[in-house]
Parts: sequence; C-alpha cells; structure tokens
Amino acid sequence: MSATEAAPASPAPGPLERVASELLPSLGADGVRARRAPYIEVFERLDAFITRQRDTGAEVLRFPPVMSRRQLERSGYLQSFPNLLGCVSALHGSEAAIRAAADVHEQGGDWTRSLAASDLVLSPAACYPLYPLAGGRGPIPRDGLLFDVAADCFRHEPARHASRLQSFRMREFVCIGTPSQALAFRDAWMERAPRLAEQLALPSRIEPATDPFFGRVGQVMAVSQRQQALKFELLIALETNTAPTACMSFNYHLDHFGLAWELVDRAGERAHTACVAFGVDRLVLALFCEHGLDTRRWPPTVRKALSLP
Ligand code: ATP
Ligand code: ZN
Ligand code: MG
Repeated sequence: MSATEAAPASPAPGPLERVASELLPSLGADGVRARRAPYIEVFERLDAFITRQRDTGAEVLRFPPVMSRRQLERSGYLQSFPNLLGCVSALHGSEAAIRAAADVHEQGGDWTRSLAASDLVLSPAACYPLYPLAGGRGPIPRDGLLFDVAADCFRHEPARHASRLQSFRMREFVCIGTPSQALAFRDAWMERAPRLAEQLALPSRIEPATDPFFGRVGQVMAVSQRQQALKFELLIALETNTAPTACMSFNYHLDHFGLAWELVDRAGERAHTACVAFGVDRLVLALFCEHGLDTRRWPPTVRKALSLP
C-alpha cells in the first residue's frame, strides 16, 4: 500500500463485540474468556431467575466440567459430534518417562506427542452425566423424574464469534419418564420460554432446529431429527442485521438415552427423555446487547425480574 492510499476503515464494532470486549476479557485462546463483575452479577441473578422457574420436585445436581469418557462413548456422542469433543489427555508412565516428555518442551520440542488419553472428556452438554446416574438407581417411578442440572461445557467449536464460546455454562431441566411425559415436559417449556424472554424484555422466537451433526451421515440424522420435530430453539437477535442466536433449546431424545442406560419403569418399558437447555452465557450477552452495559439503566421490569439491586 502506498503512503497516499487510505487504509480501509475497519467497521465499527457491533454491540456484541463491544459487550464482549468490555465484560469478557479474552484469555488468549478463541472462545475462552474471563467474566468481569457486572457480567457475573447478571449471570448469577439470571441463574437465580431460572431457579425460580424450576418445577417442584426436581432434583438438583451440579456436575464438574469433566465426565467419564466411557459414559460419553456409550451415550453415542462419537457417532454424532466427534468434531466438537475435547478429551483430557495426560502424561502417563514412570517418573522418568514423564520427566523426559516434559523436558522435550524445555528443549524446544513438541512435548504433546507423549500425551495419551485419560479416562475423562470435557462435558459437551450438562445432561450427559445424568442418564447413567439415573439408570443406576433402579426403575423410573410412575410419575417420571425431573432434574435441574448444570455444568461448564466445552465444545471444540469451529467458528470464532463472541457468542460461540469453547467454554460456556449450560443449565438444563430434564425429564425422564414415559413418551408422553417427556414430550409434554418439552412442549410445556416451549410454551413458557417465550414468556420468560418477555419478562427479560428480550424479543425472541421459537423455531424448529437440528443438532450440528457431523459429516454426511450427520446430514441424514439432521433431516430425520427435523422430520420428527425433536429439537426447537429459542432465538434472540444479539445484533441487528445478523442471524439470531440460539439461547435455549428444547430437545426430545425419544428412547436414545433410555436404550443406552437401561432406563426402564417397573413394567420394563423403556423410558424416554427430554431436556430444556438454557445457554446462560448467551442469555447474559443478549441482556447486555439489548439493554446496554449499565444495568442501572435497564428497564425497571427487567431489573425487577432479575432482582437487580
Ligand atoms: P448452536 O445452535 O449454537 O450450534 P447447539 O444447537 O449445538 O448450538 P445445544 O446443544 O442445544 O446447542 O445447547 C444448548 C444451548 O447451549 C444452546 O441453545 C446455546 O444457548 C448454548 N450453547 C451451545 N453452544 C454454545 C457455544 N459454543 N457458546 C455458548 N453457548 C452455547
Ligand atoms: Zn440436554
Ligand atoms: Mg443449534
């Protein structure tokens, strides 16, 4: 470029970029960010708001960010989303072997060649650890089971975008029961969720969706998922002129987990499952994008819904 040529003006950052750079300092890896105090405040108040929506009788469980690799394998994750999975690997073997591998780094070499998989993966969704846990407890009662679960999830996401994190919080309400119980639970939440978004003054709409299944076989799975109306998403526009973002999902798994984990009722009928997932980070981003960085200036109804001081 010659000195007389003007540098092309870089477009002004949109609200999402502004919110993210103000509240979520990047930590040197794509989609991995710290949370600053105003974000944490809204995050925690939104989490409490979600708790107030919980069905009575739901069992509360919080899962760590890692889970058993064998359990995730048995849940069929590798058939559907092998590209998104992160596996914990470690240096194994004798002290001498581990020392030698670590020293490769000091010598400027690639120490990661000595890594081998451990028995852990990073949880890609909050509900996976639940089904084996429930399956180990005996028959599913007649009224079904409800749960409130959450975990920090990891996905090896291909895209770089402030709302597509590699590490993010997922909160889920889950139902294990008969086909009609699971479906009714999922459908009731699809009715309720837009009203919750309204309380937060977030314009939203619900649309049929598919999971991001991997590869060509995955496309066939996605077609079948759509035909059977198994997945829906609550979409919120984080910015004007860009496609809206999935901030919640409503999923009916048929007997997928029932089959994998021998979830049965007293009569031996296989259980069906459904989950409603809150993308907590995306919902917090949506609140800041819609209402601005200063929570004191948010609409009074929103402040009240979130019990902001
Ligand atoms: P997407 O439509 O963005 O690809 P998904 O359909 O794979 O996500 P689900 O598996 O239904 O998402 O996850 C439940 C919710 O978790 C999503 O609706 C979203 O709000 C949130 N979520 C999923 N992936 C991410 C991510 N990479 N960063 C932040 N939140 C996410
Ligand atoms: Zn789930
Ligand atoms: Mg989606």
